[in-house]
Amino acid sequence: MPAVAQQPVPARPVLIRGALVVDGSGGPSRVADVRIAGGTIRQIGQLTPGSSDSVVYARGLVLAPGFIDTHSHHDRGLDSERTALAAVSQGITTIVVGQDGGSRFPLADWFAQREQRPAAVNVASYVGHGRLRDAIMGDDFKRPATPAEVRQMAALLEGEMAAGALGLSSGLEYDPGIYSATDELVALARVAARHGGRYISHVRSEDRHFRAAIDELIAIGRRAGLPVQLSHAKLAMRSVWGRADSLISVLDRARASGVRVTLDIYPYTYWQSTLTVLFPERNFRDTAAARFALTEVTTPDSAILGDFEPDPTLAGKSIAEIAALRRTDPAITLMDLIAEAGKPKPGGGSYDESVVAVSMVQADIDRLWRWPFANVCSDGALNGAHPRGYGAFPRFFRMAVRERRLLSLEEAVRRATSLAAANVGIVDRGRIAAGLFADLVLLDTAALADRATPKEPHVTSTGVRAVWVNGVLVYNGAATGAFPGRVIRRRTT
Ligand SMILES: [Zn+2]
Repeated sequence: MPAVAQQPVPARPVLIRGALVVDGSGGPSRVADVRIAGGTIRQIGQLTPGSSDSVVYARGLVLAPGFIDTHSHHDRGLDSERTALAAVSQGITTIVVGQDGGSRFPLADWFAQREQRPAAVNVASYVGHGRLRDAIMGDDFKRPATPAEVRQMAALLEGEMAAGALGLSSGLEYDPGIYSATDELVALARVAARHGGRYISHVRSEDRHFRAAIDELIAIGRRAGLPVQLSHAKLAMRSVWGRADSLISVLDRARASGVRVTLDIYPYTYWQSTLTVLFPERNFRDTAAARFALTEVTTPDSAILGDFEPDPTLAGKSIAEIAALRRTDPAITLMDLIAEAGKPKPGGGSYDESVVAVSMVQADIDRLWRWPFANVCSDGALNGAHPRGYGAFPRFFRMAVRERRLLSLEEAVRRATSLAAANVGIVDRGRIAAGLFADLVLLDTAALADRATPKEPHVTSTGVRAVWVNGVLVYNGAATGAFPGRVIRRRTT
């Protein structure tokens, strides 16, 4: 047996005939034939089938570059579910992981494993700031790092960047990143910058201290001199609803002053996270904080448990429903649930818990979609409780293009492809052009729609007819069982 798995390459060139080609650049679409061979796009135009071509008739369909998911958690379980059905069935061909401050460590090993046992999708990764903190500070993380610790983290980061990471990610609403100072992040971002990398951040607050969190993101970009991406942008609190315009003017001013700030966003008014994220002060027994969370940040009716390992029967129930069952107040219920999930688990480790909660308004999402530097992401997982894992990209097209007419098809495709690639530093994918990798998706745009819901989050979308990754068909209404996905390492040219 060879030590390294062979990259599958289709035996014959594929000629996709007569599709409306939307090339990802944002420019006008045109009907053309596209020939792919050896994993790359070879020719685009009026092409004559050759005797070796395998022909796909695509008249009436749209051919676009495969979608690049700049904020993905689809790597969890990817080793046992290499078809990545949740991702490829919505047209995603590249997942960018290592988000929210968490990443595999060391990345060189994980990349080597992905090459030994490839999946249907390409993978790229950031280096998680929280992962670096774990490695150096261990359990003693509830404080700013010392200068010596920052130097040790920087040394680890050097190695991860050399392995091909796209840059540094942070998750500043979560342990352990929540305890870091801005200077620590700037020092590490400077290391990423030296390697031509970037910074991507789940910022310190998406609600109470949102403006300060955005200012911190921009300051990191300015001081470290690197591009910064706001992860899954949201205005997630009643008192900031309707402020998308002011967020965009802050971002535009930063760009005008030389900070390359961009964002990604998923097309849902509800998020999924941990219950504890509702308590940024970590005051889990403070009734006033619990009441604030359930009035200003979300509501007892719209906050639904995804999974809850201490009592799995509660999964799918709202905080309001659980409060009624227990004959207590929703705020008390929320605090009790956190306490139950925080107990030591028999056999070690900690209990899983998650919550899906509404905290945004569609008008803000619409406004952010119209910002030309906003790309689409899913923030989804293969088996998550949130429907974004299966439905984000088709939902974006359904809502932004077909129903709300906020973006042209060409512009919407750009947001899912070339802009996404540019915002994370991927250089040879995201457009249909000769010489680029043949990551392609064939769409019936009239039928393109999500079907996954919070009650049934694992339902594939409609309208995605075929998906190729590196020239190999991975989805045609079902997973094909081909695993042509590659590891994408940072390139600076
Ligand atoms: Zn996040």
